Amino acid sequence: MKQAERKAATEEHLPARGDLPRLHHWIGGREDRGDGGRSGVVYDPAAGTATKQVPFASAEDVDRAVAAAGEAFLAWGRTPLGRRADVLFRFRELARARAEDLARAIVREHGKVLPDARGEVQRGLEVVEFACGIPQLLKGEFSENVSTEVDSWTVRQPLGVVAGITPFNFPVMVPMWMYPIAIAAGNAFVLKPSEKDPSPSLMVAELWQEAGLPAGVFNVVHGDRVAVDRILEQPGISAVSFVGSTPVARHVYETGTRNGKRVQALGGAKNHMVVLPDADMELAADSAVNAAFGSAGQRCMAISVLVAVGDAADRVLPLVEEQMRAIRVGDGMDEASEMGPLVTAQHLERVTRLVDEGVASGASLTVDGRGIHVEGRRGFFLGPCLFDHVRPEMSIYREEIFGPVLSVVRASDYDEAVALVNASPWANGVAVFTGDGGAARRFQSEIQVGMVGINVPIPVPMAYHSFGGWKDSLFGDAHVHGLEGVRFYTRGKVVTARWPDPRLKGRDLGFPTS
Ligand code: NAD
Repeated sequence: MKQAERKAATEEHLPARGDLPRLHHWIGGREDRGDGGRSGVVYDPAAGTATKQVPFASAEDVDRAVAAAGEAFLAWGRTPLGRRADVLFRFRELARARAEDLARAIVREHGKVLPDARGEVQRGLEVVEFACGIPQLLKGEFSENVSTEVDSWTVRQPLGVVAGITPFNFPVMVPMWMYPIAIAAGNAFVLKPSEKDPSPSLMVAELWQEAGLPAGVFNVVHGDRVAVDRILEQPGISAVSFVGSTPVARHVYETGTRNGKRVQALGGAKNHMVVLPDADMELAADSAVNAAFGSAGQRCMAISVLVAVGDAADRVLPLVEEQMRAIRVGDGMDEASEMGPLVTAQHLERVTRLVDEGVASGASLTVDGRGIHVEGRRGFFLGPCLFDHVRPEMSIYREEIFGPVLSVVRASDYDEAVALVNASPWANGVAVFTGDGGAARRFQSEIQVGMVGINVPIPVPMAYHSFGGWKDSLFGDAHVHGLEGVRFYTRGKVVTARWPDPRLKGRDLGFPTS
């Protein structure tokens, strides 16, 4: 499709927002309509139609959520650990019981296929399960008799009100990387989910209430940059967790830290999968296809570059192409679909433009998913695309495409492949496929990327480990969930105490020693 035709097709999807049902914020344990000003439109990406309006919070709306959270924190932060854990356990049971509803809510606004959405909910709930162990996770350290009659111990205390700002691609899982641990640790939470798929966060708010979480401990404000910028300035917020694209992550980190907040800001990605000549090529092909085209490539851990070393390209690519041509693209609600649409018409437009640029720059598009037609649906569909002979200076290599596009770069040997990966500013995930344990061991040591898979294409750490990239894929020091998550949402205090023997009284102006 030509650019102008595509633009016209895209404009058909522009909202007629008048009568659309309007969502609400969730502040202080109840629905909040906000100041009634700006709003956005939520789409059903498979149908290509506008389905809801979402209110965009003003600075005052954010302030109201922060005030409710600050009030709730006073009691929640002092609530005994066992009682907090009880609420987490109940939330986990309720969310499990509603998992199918959550998954369907994801599909309706994000577009991913139902099994993928179910997996997302499951992976999010694993963080809730981890957070149920908060009494164990917050245990401090104790040193007896550090000096005469003196003991010393460490405690970790909640920060107060903390905020999470999250992307569209995992509307349930990514917020769940944050709030279960933050809340279990005694904080109150303000979530600003993506405005593209906001409904699941409201379902979660109701589940928290049903689980017995006091009003105000979990709040949801919808919106765009106005809400985000207020969160970054709001003096009542102590820490901000962000997940999204790199330019916004950088903005959030710089602005938040300038305003004295603790910030972890996870950015975008361009993940490489290195296939060495001794790899099991069938396993490598399956893995590349699953990791590149699952969720239509809209995953921060998607494989977007396959680095084929030596003759690996000629052996793996025919298998990859064969698999790609068999992928069933369709409505995410249809159990037969393997890959759904992109999230919005604008995103489809951007990804298609990048595919056009790839062709113009001389890469060979061996599988072309442009212009795909899905029977009975007018949504934002793009079929899987494969580029061979991609070079590092091309925009399809340099930019995060975040769509169903896999680029193949050919490298003559292992060193060239590792140098290519290490030269990239993105460093979220990487994978190596090989049958050689020594090569894999060397790779995991030499590669400058935060999460490494060995014959595993999407090496997402479990909830009890921590998730995060390096370089432009993470701003700040703390990765999310696992022990780093617990540390991020708490601060340490060291107490030193003496219960003196009355015989030890007397003046001594010297510096205390043992
Ligand atoms: P995005 O950066 O556009 O949006 C993320 C959040 O920031 C949303 O809540 C959005 O409302 C807000 N936002 C958007 N533009 C803003 C601006 N100019 N100023 C302030 N706030 C703004 O990201 P997205 O398109 O929703 O999600 C896709 C991106 O997220 C991809 O780059 C992907 O790699 C990344 N991502 C990263 C991880 C990770 O763990 N590193 C995980 C998931 C997604």
